[in-house]
Amino acid sequence: MNNKCIINGLEISAFDDMGHAIDSILHEGDVVSGCAIAVNAEKIVSSYEREDVKSILESASFRYPDGAGVSLVMAKRGCVSARIPGCDLWVELMKGSASFNLPVFIVGAKPEVNLQTVEKLKNEFGVKVVGACDGYFDNESELIDRVKRSQAKIVTVALGSPRQENFINRCREFHPDAFYMGVGGTYDVFTDRVKRAPQWAQKYNLEWLYRLVSQPTRITRQFKLVKYLFLVVMNKV
Ligand code: UDP
Repeated sequence: MNNKCIINGLEISAFDDMGHAIDSILHEGDVVSGCAIAVNAEKIVSSYEREDVKSILESASFRYPDGAGVSLVMAKRGCVSARIPGCDLWVELMKGSASFNLPVFIVGAKPEVNLQTVEKLKNEFGVKVVGACDGYFDNESELIDRVKRSQAKIVTVALGSPRQENFINRCREFHPDAFYMGVGGTYDVFTDRVKRAPQWAQKYNLEWLYRLVSQPTRITRQFKLVKYLFLVVMNKV
């Protein structure tokens, strides 16, 4: 069985399960340096339409199937993979970091969300948080300098796309010896400010429907799902 699948020229890793994905990041008490990026239907469509989005996706050292649309197409192309939701991957990564006592830096989200995320990670998970900054900073180089000085081995960034990926790429230039992950709205979910889709919706790959009903303003983003299906059926990606 293939352990990689190509969609729109992008290599996406296949994983048996979440443990397999974590093993590809954490090895023998250390972390693999690089950057992971979640791939879903919306990002595939954006990368088809825009070269800048495609190069952001290309810049990651590993891409994982965060969305059901991506894992379904992978299976169709002979590369079966579990779906790896980014927010679950992040939680498992945090637990793994705690067991190896790896230093973690938490960037992004609103000040109160960032603070609560750090507190919860320290108190409930035993994570060694060596630095944190909310997502509304003015001086990026100062923050990059803080990350470097903290010697963090894992840096997770919630600034929304593509800002978080651009930040990660600049930070990696100065502090390459770490694992980076863009996490979008994960801290908001972790601190119970945003609800995840219920289990049934996750099980039947209907998270998109749940999100559409609970956040109707996302309708324009949802059009991308239709375009994704069209591109797949027409063999354009
Ligand atoms: N965010 C931030 N600074 C900004 C804009 C957004 O820290 O200037 C945070 C926002 O508070 C949220 C996260 O980025 O916690 C992700 O936002 P969004 O849900 O739009 O991202 P997505 O997961 O949809 O890419």
